Order: sequence, then C-alpha cells, then structure tokens
Amino acid sequence: MPAQKEILYLVFLALAVRTVRLQLIGSEDHGWAFIWDYNGRAEQVYYDSMVARWNYNTNLTLENSLKQDEANFIEAHFDKQAAQIASNFDWQNFNNTTLKRLFRKITLLGTAVNHIDQAREAREYNNLLAEMRLIYSTGKVCEYHNPSSCLSLNPDLSDCLANNHNYDRLRFCWEGWRDAVGRKLKDKYPRFVELSNQAVHQGVPNWTDTGAYWRSWYETADFQEQLENLYNQLKPLYNNLHAYVRKKLREQYGQDKISATGPIPAHLLGNMWSQSWSNIYDLVEPYPGKTSIDVTSKMLSDGWTVDRMFRISDDFFKEMGLIEMPQNFWDNSMFVKPADREVVCHASAWDFYNAHDVRIKMCSNVSMQDLVTIHHEMGHIEYYLQYKHQPVPFRRGGNPGFHEAVGDLLALSVSTPTHLQTIGLLDTVEDDNESDINFLMSMALDKISFLPFGYLMDQWRWGVFNGSITPATYNQEWWKLRTRYQGIVPPVPRNNDKDFDPGCKYHVPANHPYMRYFVSYVLQFQFHKALCETSGHTGPLHKCDISAGTEAQKAAAGEKLARMLQMGSSQEWPDAMEVITGQRDMSAQPIVDYFQPLIDWLEQQNQGETLGWDDTWTPPYDCEATDGFTCKDGSRCVRPGDRCDGVNDCADKSDEQNCSIVPTGPTGGAAVSTVTNFASTVVCVLVALLMVNLVP
Ligand SMILES: [Zn+2]
Repeated sequence: MPAQKEILYLVFLALAVRTVRLQLIGSEDHGWAFIWDYNGRAEQVYYDSMVARWNYNTNLTLENSLKQDEANFIEAHFDKQAAQIASNFDWQNFNNTTLKRLFRKITLLGTAVNHIDQAREAREYNNLLAEMRLIYSTGKVCEYHNPSSCLSLNPDLSDCLANNHNYDRLRFCWEGWRDAVGRKLKDKYPRFVELSNQAVHQGVPNWTDTGAYWRSWYETADFQEQLENLYNQLKPLYNNLHAYVRKKLREQYGQDKISATGPIPAHLLGNMWSQSWSNIYDLVEPYPGKTSIDVTSKMLSDGWTVDRMFRISDDFFKEMGLIEMPQNFWDNSMFVKPADREVVCHASAWDFYNAHDVRIKMCSNVSMQDLVTIHHEMGHIEYYLQYKHQPVPFRRGGNPGFHEAVGDLLALSVSTPTHLQTIGLLDTVEDDNESDINFLMSMALDKISFLPFGYLMDQWRWGVFNGSITPATYNQEWWKLRTRYQGIVPPVPRNNDKDFDPGCKYHVPANHPYMRYFVSYVLQFQFHKALCETSGHTGPLHKCDISAGTEAQKAAAGEKLARMLQMGSSQEWPDAMEVITGQRDMSAQPIVDYFQPLIDWLEQQNQGETLGWDDTWTPPYDCEATDGFTCKDGSRCVRPGDRCDGVNDCADKSDEQNCSIVPTGPTGGAAVSTVTNFASTVVCVLVALLMVNLVP
C-alpha cells in the first residue's frame, strides 16, 4: 500500500533526523502526505477504542474493562508515535496555515499521552481514574432503618431531590449520596491530581499544571479575565433570582430553616448539586394558573415514549435543513437504562470517527427536562456529522464551549410556548405578560441558576491543579466557592477530614473539564440572538422560535449554523463565532436581553428583600431528627456517615459500638470491591481526548 510505504519512509526519515541531527523536514508536500496517512490510521485506531469504551460504559464488567484498557493503550501509543513523527517536521515554519494548525494539534495530542513512558505511573493513573468512575457509577444509598433497600443516583436519588418537599427526606438523599461516594473518593483524588500534573508537565510545551493545559484549548490569552467579566455582568441577574427563590422557600419551609439574609440550604433546590432549579418551579411559579411550560404531565398523560422524544428532536434538526440522524444512530444508541446490567448513566454523545457511526448513551425518562437533554446531546451528534469531512485533528468544536452550545441553542426555540404548541405539548398559548413571566421564570431556573455553578467548578479544580488548594482544604475551599458564588450552604455540618463533596459531581471523578458549560451558556444566547435575526424574528428575544419563519428564513438560519459547525476547529473560535454573530467576542448581553422582562419583575418582587447573603449563616440541625447519633456521654452529635465507619468520633467511642445492627456505611460494597481487584491488573492510557460529550 502506498500510504503504508509513505509513513514507513517518514518514520525512517524521522529517525534519521533524530540520529544524525539533520535539519527538520521542511517540505510541505511531505507534510500533507503525513497528514493524510495519519488521518486514515487515526480513524481506525480511534474507532476501535471508541467501540471498546462504549462496550464498557454500557456494560460495566471486568472483561469489558480489560478490553477497553487494551484499546486505550493502543490509542495512546498511536498518538504518541504520531506526535513524535510530526515533531520532526519544520511545521512551525510552514506557510500553509491549515497545515501548520494540523501539525500543532497532532503534537499537542502527543503531549497529553506523554506520560505513557513511565509505565508504572501511567498504570496507576488509569487505575485511579477507573476506580473513581466506578465508585461514582455504582454508588448507592441505603435507607438508614432498612439497609437492604438501596437507592441509586439515577433514577432514585435524582427523583428524590426533584419531587420531594419534605425537608428531612431531601436531606437524607443529599447527605447519603455524599457519604456513599465522596468519602470513598477522598483518598484517591490527591494522587490523581499529582499524576495528572506530572503528565502535562513533561510534554512540549510543558504546561505548568493540568488547569493550564485545559485552558490552552481556548487559544485565548486573557481567557480567565474574559470569564470574570462575563460572570460579573451576570451576577446581578443571579442575585435577584436567588433572593426571590429564597423568599419562596422561606414560605414553604419556615423562617427557622431559611434565613431571610443567609444562603439557601443546598438540598432544597430540586437538584443534587443545586445546579438547575427547574424542579422547584411549582414552589416559585409567579402566576399560578397561567401558562406553564412544565409539560411533563402532559407528555405522560398523552402517552409519550422515549423514542418519540428522540424523533421530535431529530425532526427539529431536519426542519432547519440540518443533517438528520443516520440509521446507525437509531440502531446502536442506548436510550434507556437497561434492567439487566450496570451502566454509566450520565448522558453522553459519541463520535466513532468513521463518519457514520454516532451514538447517544442516556438513561432517559419521559419528561420535559429529558427532552431538552436529548436536544443537547443531539446537538453534539449534529456537530460530529457536520464536520466529519474535516481531518481528524479538526473534528472538535470551535472551542469546547461551542460543542456544548449547539443542542441547547435549538432547545431555546423548542422550549417556547408557541413551538411546544406546534408539537402538541401545549393546548393553548396565552399571550400576555403573566404567561411571559411564568415562561421566563422556568427558563431562568435552568439557565440563570446554572451560571455560578458552571463558573465555580473549574475555579475549584484549577486551584487544586495549581496547588493553591491543597488536599487538606479540598472540602473547605469547595464550600467557600459554593457559598460565595451560588449562595448555598450544606444542610448538615461537613466533616472536612472525611468528606469530599466535589467528588460527588460526575465530572470530578470522571475528570471532564467543566468551564465549557459556563462558556456554552453565554454562547448559546449569542447564537440564539443572531439566528433569530436571520430567521426574521422581531419582538422580544424570549419569544423567538428560529423555525417559525418562512421556508427561506428558516433555511438561512440553518445554513448559517451548518457553516459554523462544518468548520470544526479548523480555525480559531472567533472566526467561527463571526460566521454566526458577525462579531468576534463573547458577550453576556444577549442573556441579559433575553431575561430583561423577568429582571424588571424580580426587582419589583424583591423590594424589601436583601440581595446577596451573609456567608456565615448555617441552617439549624437537630441531631435525632436528622438520623444523627448522640454519643453516650452526650458530648456531641455524630452524623450517620460517621457512625460505624471505623473512626472514633465520640470521645467515649460509643459511635463505633453495636455496629452489627447498623449498616457499615451506606454503599453497597460488592461492585466497588470488584474494581479494586481488577484495577491492579489494568494497562494504561493517560488522557482520553476523543469526542465523548456529556451533559453538565
Ligand atoms: Zn454536552
């Protein structure tokens, strides 16, 4: 095969260059030959490793884990080898900017897997990552008084947080998850951070730490400054929403549990991480009885199925003239949680790098929220399909935030009352100010509530990676950020020697960067505003449905979006942004414009309320009522997770006595102990860079 000959020749050439210190290869023709040869091989190697990863993620067995490790190992070696060959070209002096960019990306990919040389560390890194993911994916919370009845995160605990208004039951679910997962991860994470930093530090260029490496993907020198400015622009909006929701929660749960001037107890916002507050819409609805877009009950009573939700989403992409989901997608995806095996439920979209195999893995339920998530994931798939013609190193979003923004952008149109009516989810649409405020409130509970969380997740991790946050202060610093930005507090005191609350959010043990979601929440409104103008929309931004214009207008909007998606990461993101918005900077103004009517309304409602919160306030708690254990000598209250965990929390050691009648920690142990057995045998890969995109 000529391609094989060519690469052998190049390898030989590369080695020759290395050995006799000849000049770097300056021929751009040879450069292109290398790229196309690389491309064909990369597609095959990546396809194999994606299949192995998929098989493991949809069936968590030892056999699948070993196969995944083997495929990862092959992929890591391939990446490293490609980076080494590429570095023997004089690519920095190439004239063709596309070629130069391709080489830069291939050599950077090599940086991530550089650590593979230290086999022992690489193995350790991978074992840790595998263990952390498995602890998270199989974590269970058993009822304190009925240890054989255990709840998993999805759907049990998520439902508990979403559908309950019982303060103590909510606390049990919130606290149980942290006892079950965070505490098991606490000792593993510091070493993981150390190994990850070593890996990125040994490459060329040698990043100072993993956070710096992650930020480099944005190709923006003043990235942190830009984010800070965006966040400050959005803060008044968040503080107004926070004050209003706190007032409503005070009415629901009482003055003793919710302070008028304090942060909000974190377990009352309808979500395990307080990152989306949509599930408490019923408690804060501005005008009960007017149009509400929480159409879940309508979906259920109309007999909607999971399959129908995916078809509706696909229809929207088609309607905009975008690429419809291929047959492979329908045949290979996992749409619901299988009953017969353990899987990773966290929703994700997969690119298999062969231009037609694309899949979603999701434990979907029939609900409005999952309908929006399906659009989010399908947006990733649309991106994969639109840039499939690009060489492999360009099959990425303009920046990581772009990839996250696409599906959400379309969901902004789908969620409008008029669009919900056209797909049969609303019988009538009342066009008046009160219905508008209801609609904007429901959107704010999802979008505005997320902003501080999206911003702080990687503030914390960047600090951890650069060493300004140390293992001894992981949990304190986490709560400092949670309180400072989100205005929330833990409902029960934390034990910083044992708790590791950041680990209870999937992206931390799975090591997926998070700032992309904050960026995407800004971008999606910028894109929405621009496409609304293209599609001929006039009037308030929150009423825009980009599919509502004439055929020509709709096509124009779809075409503009497709043009940006097709670019992949072949150019820097401001170029991609310019295609849609006509300008090159990130801006928070479109979010402010979108929510302006709600901002005005909230300011009125919050008269007499204090905006912001006193960081020092903590909720009261009563030991017995919160399943705590009072030490026999009466000296203190021991939390359920501290009871019978092998550590004496009571001076008289009474918390570690009579343990046979109490479960030894709330997690079902079987699945976790399996991994510690096989983890010691797994082979290695360092940083998985291939395209699997998650929900936030
Ligand atoms: Zn995503």
